[in-house]
Amino acid sequence: MPHDQRDVFQDALLRLELASKYAKVDPETLLRLRQPKQFLEVSVPVRLDNGALRIFTGYRCKYDDTRGPAKGGIRFHQDVTVSEVKALAFWMTFKCAVAGLPFGGGKGGVIVNPRELSMAELERLSRGYIRAIAWAIGVDVDVPAPDVNTNGLIMAWMADEYSNVVGRREPGVITGKPVAMGGSLGRDDATARGGFFILKELEVKLGWDNRVRSRRIAVQGFGNAGEHFAGLSHADGYNVVAVSDSNGALYNPNGLDIGAMIAADHKPGLLPDLSLCGAGTRRISNAELLELDVDMLVPAAVENVITEANANKIKAKVILELANGPITVDADRMLDGREVIVIPDILANSGGVTVSYFEWTQNKMGYYWTAEEVRDRLALYMRREFSAVYELAKRHGIGMRMGAYAHALERLAPALESMGTAARYSKE
Ligand code: NAD
Repeated sequence: MPHDQRDVFQDALLRLELASKYAKVDPETLLRLRQPKQFLEVSVPVRLDNGALRIFTGYRCKYDDTRGPAKGGIRFHQDVTVSEVKALAFWMTFKCAVAGLPFGGGKGGVIVNPRELSMAELERLSRGYIRAIAWAIGVDVDVPAPDVNTNGLIMAWMADEYSNVVGRREPGVITGKPVAMGGSLGRDDATARGGFFILKELEVKLGWDNRVRSRRIAVQGFGNAGEHFAGLSHADGYNVVAVSDSNGALYNPNGLDIGAMIAADHKPGLLPDLSLCGAGTRRISNAELLELDVDMLVPAAVENVITEANANKIKAKVILELANGPITVDADRMLDGREVIVIPDILANSGGVTVSYFEWTQNKMGYYWTAEEVRDRLALYMRREFSAVYELAKRHGIGMRMGAYAHALERLAPALESMGTAARYSKE
């Protein structure tokens, strides 16, 4: 079936099924993990600047909270669907377990193209959405964060609106806030930095020498995850040959001047003008970027970009999934067959939620860490969990994705099963 007709949530469940072979899991646990604990649909009326009323549809999913409060971002996008929100919440459940955080998984979304709204309309929508779901979230219940097309400013509006609803300041209810409002230092680039720590660990495992300049990297997406990842790897000496945004990609076989591109005036998520990206840079399409002959490909934009249609054309040796769900199940199988190393989203981009956990912890303590403390703790978490997944995958002779799911199941299963299973009840 073509990928655009596939149900992204069903794809996510398929992976659960496959991974369960490599972890000790009671069938009841799988049964419970096959559906979300709570799924909300809300309508959010917003008065537009021209006086008209527009109703937006929003969702919030609390997938599982056995290991702690649900945790997951809020996406503003015209293509948000029920299936996508459930899949993203499912992935958050596994991501928090892989990362060893005391959180379950959640996710939210609003069907909107935020570029069609003025700043004031966006604020009214953000506040309206939080009022609609306020009863279902909370610092020890479900803790949202930014995702595609949402950012620190939107989190600040949402945290403020939540305070208005409950009548007290509750900074830990949302993470990814501006630092001045209780956000954590180091949250901005945490997803990319976490992925970068993995790149450094993987380099050692693969025996790559330290001539990083000869390592070619292509990054799809130039938003929060993609831009920071390109910046960190470029600063470390890697040859970042291509980056893209929703309009297309820029390619330079000799390496893009990422430093200049980041410093250049550009809208968040969009590339600067071609003339600012280094001599010899040319435009290519997003599809061409994915098929470039590079050492590492970093999808950092949207899901389902590597499918049955292009999986065999991917030339990268390693794919680091900073985006959630960029590879379909069928494509995954094809890449596995060709021994392409895929570092799965639930591990590769877990740096974001890990620093969100640090933010939540600091909010609860009312005691704030330095940027260096945040970075050092993030390095500890990323290295520890990458090694655990790498070793588990090696032990079973499976890919890193199955390894990561099995590692997560090894944490989720004992938590769910500690409340009893059919086997235990039947003995009484
Ligand atoms: P963002 O909105 O900041 O950036 C998205 C980027 O993707 C932009 O450059 C945009 O132009 C580009 N893009 C949009 N549609 C595209 C398309 N069809 N083809 C190619 N490029 C397209 O979002 P982000 O926060 O960087 O998130 C990107 C991905 O990383 C998402 O899958 C998100 O779920 C995941 N992620 C982000 C974080 C985080 O902390 N920001 C954490 C974990 C996972």
